[in-house]
This record gives sequence, C-alpha cells and structure tokens, in this order.
Amino acid sequence: MQLTSNTIPLQKFGSKLFNSYAIDVLRLDKIHPVVSGNKWFKLKFPLERALQEGKSTIATFGGAYSNHIVATAFACQEAGLKSMGIIRGEKSANLSPTLIAAEQYGMELHFVPREQFRQKKALMEQFDNGYYWVDEGGYGSDGMKGASEIFSLIDSSVYSHIICSCGTGTTLAGLVNASFPHQTIIGISALKGHDGLERDIRALLPPSKQNIPFSIFHDYHFGGYAKHPKELAEWMKELWQKEHLPTDIVYTSKLLFAVKDLCSQQYFPAESRLLVIHSGGLQGNLSLPVGTLPF
Ligand SMILES: *Cc1c(COP(=O)(O)O)cnc(C)c1O
Repeated sequence: MQLTSNTIPLQKFGSKLFNSYAIDVLRLDKIHPVVSGNKWFKLKFPLERALQEGKSTIATFGGAYSNHIVATAFACQEAGLKSMGIIRGEKSANLSPTLIAAEQYGMELHFVPREQFRQKKALMEQFDNGYYWVDEGGYGSDGMKGASEIFSLIDSSVYSHIICSCGTGTTLAGLVNASFPHQTIIGISALKGHDGLERDIRALLPPSKQNIPFSIFHDYHFGGYAKHPKELAEWMKELWQKEHLPTDIVYTSKLLFAVKDLCSQQYFPAESRLLVIHSGGLQGNLSLPVGTLPF
C-alpha cells in the first residue's frame, strides 16, 4: 500500500485558542483519502502477513461507523486480497456511508446481534474459512508495531508531549513504544468508561517498554463513542475558522477539544512543545446532515 503523499504535513497553530502553547499537528489525515491516518500504519503488517501466509481474505470486526472497517476494505482491495467484515448489530434499512463504502471496496458484510458480536472466538470458528483475522479496530501487536512507525515520518525528538486519540489504544501503544525518555505520551479516550484501556495498551507493549508511563484522559467523550452533541459541532466550526483544521466527530474533534481544555488549565509546563496526532477519519463526517460542517 503506497502513501499518496510523501511529505506528511506538520501544521503549526497560530491563534490564541490554545493559550499560546507551541503546538504542531501531524496531519496523518493527509496520507490517504480512505486508509487515512493511523489506519494505514495499523494495517501495514497484517496485510504483509496475510500475503506472506498466502491467505486470500482478511476478516475483521467493527461497528457501522468503523473507520477500521472501511480502511480494511480499501487496503485489501488494493493489495489483491478479499475482505470480510463482521458488523455489530442488525442490518438497518439504510446502511451507514461507512458500510456502503466498505461494500463498494468489495467487503463482504455479515451482521450479527450485539450479544453474539461479543463472542469473538465463537464467531471466528463459525465464519472461519482460512481467513487472516484482524481484531476489532485493528487492535493487536502488529497494529502497534505499524503505529510505532508514525514517528519515522518526522523528527519527533523535539516534542515534549505527544497527544493522540484512543479507541482501542493500539496507536497510543505504538507511540509509547517509539517515544524518547524525555517525552510524555497522552491519550484522549473517545469512549465513555473504557475501563480496560490502560491494561489493553500495556498488553501490547514489549517487556522492555513496560515501565514507560503514559496518561489517558477519560472525560472528553462528549457523551460516548460517536456521540456528537451540538457543542461539538460548534467547536469543530470554531477550530476550522481559527486554525483551518478539519476534524471528525468521533475522534479528532474530541482530541483537539481536550488539548484546548488542558492548555487553558496550563496542564503543560510553559516551555512544552506539543505534537498532536491528527489520526484521520474525516470520512466519518459523512453521517452528518449535509451542510452541518463548513469543510
Ligand atoms: C480508529 C481511529 C482512532 C483510534 O485508534 P486506536 O489505535 O484504536 O486507538 C483514532 N482516530 C481516528 C480518526 C480513527 O479512525
């Protein structure tokens, strides 16, 4: 899978929104129109392995608005692999834009009731056909390994704090794995009450990296995963007007809100240099009514 842009832009903030802190945003949303942001990195090794092992199909799990599902569908099509997605919940009459796109990229979708969706092992046995399985959201050590390569795009050593959004935490685990000792890695959870997140992240780190600290904030979910109250859309508009940064309703808008809030509390020492990871996912905004957002 090729990156569609060789230069990964770093955007500097200039407005007063962030309390005059020095902040760069790593625009991973620019690397690919569909396999955007962190998904490109998380899928790199699973794709390689599936091809090496001679598998014909990658199978994975996700919800109706999962960026991982659509990214997997596209990446498989590009790699000459088939893809199969097990989708949480009954099939609705109107498929989400995400699922419509996944089908267009050749993914075979299977809808399973929520209770059944939790029984991943049983589903893998039920559906297995010699597939190469990737966990929900791309969670796993191969995903972590791929995400570790995010820092190879830039000189990351100049930053004191690196902040990213967390779903499964795989991306954050990769950043922790690749971080320098003088850096603090901070995650903003997009889910409400995601109790096991820290443990799930630790489980992906190699033994030599188990002592690296990281912090997760759990209070910036705006009501829960994919919930997007009016204030969130207002914030997205403001961020666009003042910094020209497009964000998505599930992850990056909440991430940037958290960064703004932490900056206003002077959470970071004054000399800090912050790197915010824009993890992509902008196509998720297609589920909003047309005209909701200015970008
Ligand atoms: C999938 C996704 C995340 C979550 O990544 P994890 O590695 O699961 O924590 C964050 N941001 C965007 C835009 C995503 O699509």
